[in-house]
Amino acid sequence: MKQKKIPINKPSITELERTYVNDAVANGWGEKCYNYINLFENKFAQYQNSKYALATSSCTGAIHLALMALGVNAGDEVIVPEITWIASVEPVLYIGAKPVFVDVLRDSWCIDPKKMEAAITHKTKAIIVVHVYGNMCNMDEIMSIAKKHNLLVVEDAAEALGSEYNGKKAGSIADVGVFSFHGTKTMTTGEGGMLVTNNESVCEKAKILNDHGRNPKDPENKMFWMRDYGYKYKMSNLQAALGVAQIERINELINKKRLIFKWYWDELHNLPCKLNPEHENTKNSYWLPTLIVDESIQFDRENFFKFMSEHNIDSRPFFYPLSSLPMFKNENNKIAYNIYKKGINLPSYHDLTLEEVKLVCSLFNNYINKK
Ligand SMILES: *Cc1c(COP(=O)(O)O)cnc(C)c1O
Repeated sequence: MKQKKIPINKPSITELERTYVNDAVANGWGEKCYNYINLFENKFAQYQNSKYALATSSCTGAIHLALMALGVNAGDEVIVPEITWIASVEPVLYIGAKPVFVDVLRDSWCIDPKKMEAAITHKTKAIIVVHVYGNMCNMDEIMSIAKKHNLLVVEDAAEALGSEYNGKKAGSIADVGVFSFHGTKTMTTGEGGMLVTNNESVCEKAKILNDHGRNPKDPENKMFWMRDYGYKYKMSNLQAALGVAQIERINELINKKRLIFKWYWDELHNLPCKLNPEHENTKNSYWLPTLIVDESIQFDRENFFKFMSEHNIDSRPFFYPLSSLPMFKNENNKIAYNIYKKGINLPSYHDLTLEEVKLVCSLFNNYINKK
């Protein structure tokens, strides 16, 4: 008999979430139609220790707003890492700017600051860095390079809610930070995102862009009148109600992610593979436990996924180098192009048990030893 399916991720929903969502659906209309949104933004900003927060319908939308609010225009170059989810880069294309792919570090799988600096040209306008799978980028080095070259930085912390660097929350260090509340992420609103910043004018611009271009401070301000067109990436009050419950439970959610990772580490650290690192002065919230099988080991990940799905266990491929996708041109980013083939993500949903982690690890161990 097959054991119960082990999904890669799914949200943790309790009575608290149900209470707030029920309240929002029963009462959150008319004058109260923004109450949970305002509350969610305030609680999120407080958690991040950021001055401003703007809830959005997705992280993809938040990145699009962030780039526009920072003044990125068609024809500009934006530096991005090779290894990330495609959503980090698509908004660069929406604007007609050009993504410049930079290789990652071998241990953190995050952008290599030295190669990032080497990629800067007179056309570079901004840099998007990504704390991939919860692992922190080297933010001191990144921010000092950006400052030296007068460049703006967006911190894509969609996978790193709750990770920290020198005591600062991931997403609170650069000019703008962005988050995702998709159902697979550490906390969820179903779909949803957030933009945080300490820069008042960036937040104001993002808000205007997110409201069809309506500017309440425009001297000619009249109902339904606007100077420029905008966009609409808004979060609903219903989603925000879910978000309020999740941010109230954020420490519990992150502690469980860290416990799950520790279980994996106990089982796997003596095997020939590398796991998510947690460097000195950082905290990793371990959104997705990830391993890269050592080069010395024969490992075909497509076969491994088949093997795992025969055991009813969900596992995922480490991101392809983005420049290897058909719509881009292959770049010579050797580390990314080498490690991805041996990289897999393991289940980390909040209700995962120690027994289930042990089962996943023993199957992995059997698989690599059988070869
Ligand atoms: C999930 C994710 C996004 C996109 O989030 P959506 O809310 O689905 O738009 C962006 N960047 C990274 C790194 C992600 O993992």
